[in-house]
Amino acid sequence: MGDVRMSDDCIFCSIVAGDIPARVVAETDDALAFLDANPMARGHTLVVPKGHHQRVADLSREESRAVFDLVHDLAPAIEDAVNADAHTIGVNDGPDAGQEVPHAHVHIIPRFERDGGGPIHVAAG
Ligand code: 5GP
Repeated sequence: MGDVRMSDDCIFCSIVAGDIPARVVAETDDALAFLDANPMARGHTLVVPKGHHQRVADLSREESRAVFDLVHDLAPAIEDAVNADAHTIGVNDGPDAGQEVPHAHVHIIPRFERDGGGPIHVAAG
């Protein structure tokens, strides 16, 4: 990992730094994936850039590619791991979209045939 921007009062920066525990699913130079603490389904995973940026458009191209490449690779692996039938991939990009943690993150939420396949809102609240 290079010299990344961190925020002292950001929970996801603390996870990236290893200062608070998380169940890490995968890691690359610029991105980290870990299980959501309050999952909407088994295997609900968050993929974050290691640098602190609130919005997706604040990421550099390199960071954006790192995050979305990890989403691309992990989604089918998670689907396999929890025996899901599909997944919802979503970003609450800004407080008015329901973003509660101000460090950009992509939700990968496994979906199951039995859950009816309707839309879900990825905001925790
Ligand atoms: P948002 O509403 O910002 O899109 O989603 C934030 C997500 O972060 C929620 O799904 C919430 O459960 C998760 N979350 C909040 N704090 C923590 C934490 O300390 N550890 C982990 N693993 N997930 C968290």
